[in-house]
Amino acid sequence: MNIAFIGLGNMGAPMALNLAAAGHNVTGYDTATIPAGLTAASSAAAAVAGADVAITMLPNGDILRRVAAEIIPALPAHAVFCDCSTVDVDSARTVAALAEARGIAALDAPVSGGTAGAAAGRLTFMVGGPASAFATAEPLFAIMGAKAVHCGPSGAGQSAKICNNMILGVTMIATCEAFALADRLGLDRQKLFDVASTSSGQSWSLTSYCPAPGIGPASPADNGYRPGFAAELMLKDLLLAQQAATASHAETPMGALAAELYRQFVEEEGGKGMDFSAMLPRFTKRHIGH
Ligand code: NAD
Repeated sequence: MNIAFIGLGNMGAPMALNLAAAGHNVTGYDTATIPAGLTAASSAAAAVAGADVAITMLPNGDILRRVAAEIIPALPAHAVFCDCSTVDVDSARTVAALAEARGIAALDAPVSGGTAGAAAGRLTFMVGGPASAFATAEPLFAIMGAKAVHCGPSGAGQSAKICNNMILGVTMIATCEAFALADRLGLDRQKLFDVASTSSGQSWSLTSYCPAPGIGPASPADNGYRPGFAAELMLKDLLLAQQAATASHAETPMGALAAELYRQFVEEEGGKGMDFSAMLPRFTKRHIGH
């Protein structure tokens, strides 16, 4: 396929290179650098001329809206526009409607798996948009990822991503505060893990990504809390979840509190650049009432 790839940062570059390595003809555009191994275009509009699929991997919804306005008029009529960025649900639906007004099918296809998953071609794609467009893009998802779930119409991919990450943010905080409480109670962390990992307190945050060093499988906690999944990226996703909750009149008190705690951690407590599981040392340092 002829593929245009716009946004070649930490995630986009390895994703685009995996598509090129699989034999696709990939034309890349980025306002910063375009990695060797791709055909470099001089603009986003030039990149999508002749494309069967145009993929974007951009920082946020405002930039996505600007890039979409530039590339949609330049896309061939048969092309599929597939945005893999994590953006707000409203931006995803707006750019899909803009594409569909020109007869171009659009997908919102955010990912989980981080930069390691992008490099290894092991991402998970959560996809919203028409089934026919999903079928066109599915072979590309299979190269860049290990799993792709068609979640529903436009916006469903972003909705699935923020709902999942809201569960993750809340359970990670709960897991960290439980370990910090165990410390104060004189309960050995390994014993808490042995009980909770096979009891009703079990979650992915505890058993696959344990925030306590030396316990459970290897995780960023065992590496000085270097990310992994950085706290500021968790904050971005929790704020997108709150934006969506407000717009859809959903009540999400735990998600709101998780967003506020990660905001404090990132903006006021030195958490920027640390893994999101570094909430554990944050809690152990704090004392209430004295
Ligand atoms: P990044 O900042 O490394 O890359 C974004 C790229 O977009 C940069 O290279 C930038 O130069 C480029 N860009 C900005 N404006 C542009 C424009 N107008 N035209 C063309 N290129 C432009 O970010 P990233 O880590 O690659 O993340 C990309 C997206 O993936 C974000 O939405 C992020 O939330 C999401 N995401 C990231 C991770 C992760 O672990 N990094 C995991 C899952 C999802």
